[in-house]
Amino acid sequence: MLRAMNEANSDVWTGGLTNDLSQVLLSEAQIAARVGQLGRQLAADYVEKDPLLVGILSGSFPFIADLVRAMNLALEVDFMAVSSYGDRTSSSGVVRILKDLNTSIAGRHVIVVEDIVDTGLTLHYLYENLRTRQPASLKVCALLDKREARKREVEVDYVGFHCPNEFVVGYGLDYRGRYRNLPFIGVLRPEVYRKAE
Ligand code: 5GP
Repeated sequence: MLRAMNEANSDVWTGGLTNDLSQVLLSEAQIAARVGQLGRQLAADYVEKDPLLVGILSGSFPFIADLVRAMNLALEVDFMAVSSYGDRTSSSGVVRILKDLNTSIAGRHVIVVEDIVDTGLTLHYLYENLRTRQPASLKVCALLDKREARKREVEVDYVGFHCPNEFVVGYGLDYRGRYRNLPFIGVLRPEVYRKAE
């Protein structure tokens, strides 16, 4: 598997970062195809609504960049940064807003764009926080949905892929700040984070 992964990405990704992965979960092509579909679906659902897409930093940056370029309609983009994990691989449940929106969302059609919904604690907090700001509508679009790990029921309106209950990295998702630049999504070998704990 690793050899296939390295061959598929041999120009840039041989050795180094990919040695820390046990498998590729989603290839670059699979991600591109699904993100294109999601973008077209959102564009159709938000005709003449001038939606505001709110990317949750840092993990959503490649996803929202690709998503908005697949949406052929007028829209705006803003970002929030929240912290829930620190350096660890299991949720603390404590959510802090590190960067708030630049714009008011009152009366706007808001789409929250998340990299992954895991326990649901971050999204639950964000959803309740944004709801109090009285948007016209509030929906959630997540690239990955790790349903088995849920501790809080949250509604994810647009899902890219269902994700197994493993720690994944790549395409924006990190471990200790690394791996965000992988163009595909893979499963991090548990030895990598156990070693660091
Ligand atoms: P939740 O609050 O739903 O447990 O977690 C949300 C955040 O935790 C995500 O936005 C992401 O930053 C991080 N997270 C959850 N699962 C994973 C994972 O498998 N890999 C990585 N890299 N981050 C994750």
